Amino acid sequence: MENLGRTTSGDDVIARSGTLLGHDLLQHGGLEQQHTQRLGSMETPGETASGDDVIARSGTLFALDLLDCPICFNPLATPIFQCVNGHIACCTCCAKLMNKCPSCTLPLGNYRCLILEKVVEAVIVPCGNAKHGCLEKLSYCKKLAHEKVCDSYVLHCPAPECNYSAFHLDLYRHYTSCHKASSSRFRCGQYDDALINIREQVLVLQEYDDLPLFILQSFMGAHGVHVAVNVLAPSAQGLWELGYDLIYQRGNERFTHESEEMTRIQRVSFEAPVVNYMYIPYSSLDESLVVKMQIRIRKSRGDGEEEEA
Ligand SMILES: [Zn+2]
Ligand SMILES: [Zn+2]
Ligand SMILES: [Zn+2]
Ligand SMILES: [Zn+2]
Repeated sequence: MENLGRTTSGDDVIARSGTLLGHDLLQHGGLEQQHTQRLGSMETPGETASGDDVIARSGTLFALDLLDCPICFNPLATPIFQCVNGHIACCTCCAKLMNKCPSCTLPLGNYRCLILEKVVEAVIVPCGNAKHGCLEKLSYCKKLAHEKVCDSYVLHCPAPECNYSAFHLDLYRHYTSCHKASSSRFRCGQYDDALINIREQVLVLQEYDDLPLFILQSFMGAHGVHVAVNVLAPSAQGLWELGYDLIYQRGNERFTHESEEMTRIQRVSFEAPVVNYMYIPYSSLDESLVVKMQIRIRKSRGDGEEEEA
C-alpha cells in the first residue's frame, strides 16, 4: 500500500510502530487455517503455551500507517470493507462514498476484510501519553478513543520557562522538587497572607510537599486588577469540591470575594477570567506593585456532607 502523505523521520518510525501479538494471523492460509495452526504449534511435543510462547509469537510492525484508513487516515476499526480489487475503507468512509470504491469505482461495502480486522485488534501500542506516565497499552483501533480521555489528565508545570508536563501526582512532586522556593504555603480552612506582584501575575500555593497546586492569578484590566484562584488538577476527575475566599483591605476600604467553586485547569492561562474573580480598582491599590491579600482555601459549602454536619 502507498504511504499516503506521511513523513517518516527516525522518531516517527518509533512512534509509528506497534507489537503484533498472535503472529500466526499473518501466516499463509489466513483465517481458515489460523485455528488449526495455533493448535498445531501448541501440540508440538515439549512446547507449552506459556508466557514465553506469547512472546515467541509476537513481532514488531513498523509503518503503522498501514493500519489507518487510506481515505480519512484514522486508525481502522471493525468493520473494515474492501472492494473486489482489495482496496479498503473504514465504515465511515464507506458510507460517505456511497459504497463506491474511490480507487476503482467498483462497489465497496459488500465484503469485509476480516484478516485486517483481526490485525488491528492484535496490534498493541502504548498510549501516546506514555511520556507523561500513562502505562496503558491498547489495541491500535482503540488508541484514539483512549487518548481523548487520557489527554484531559495531563497537567503542565506552572513555573515560567518550565516545559514539564505529567499526570497530576508526578506534576505535584516535580513542582515540590524543582520550584518549591517560588511557591507559598497555606493551611486549608484558614486565612493566610498572600503577596502577589500584579505584574508577575502568578502565585503558586501548595499546602504541603507533593500536594495539589493552587494558582492565585492577577490580571491587569483597563481600570483595575482581576484576581482569581484556580486549581491545577485533571478536568476529567471530580477530585475536590473546593471553594475559596479572598480579602483585600486598604485603610477603610475592604474588598471580599467568596467562591463556592474552583475551576480546574490543566495549564496556567493568561486570559482574564470572565466569571468568578475579585475586582480591585487601581485607585484602591497603593503605588507598590505587590498586593497583600488574605486567602482561604476550604471545602465548598455546597458540599453535601458539610450541609448535613
Ligand atoms: Zn476512513
Ligand atoms: Zn477498489
Ligand atoms: Zn493513556
Ligand atoms: Zn517545572
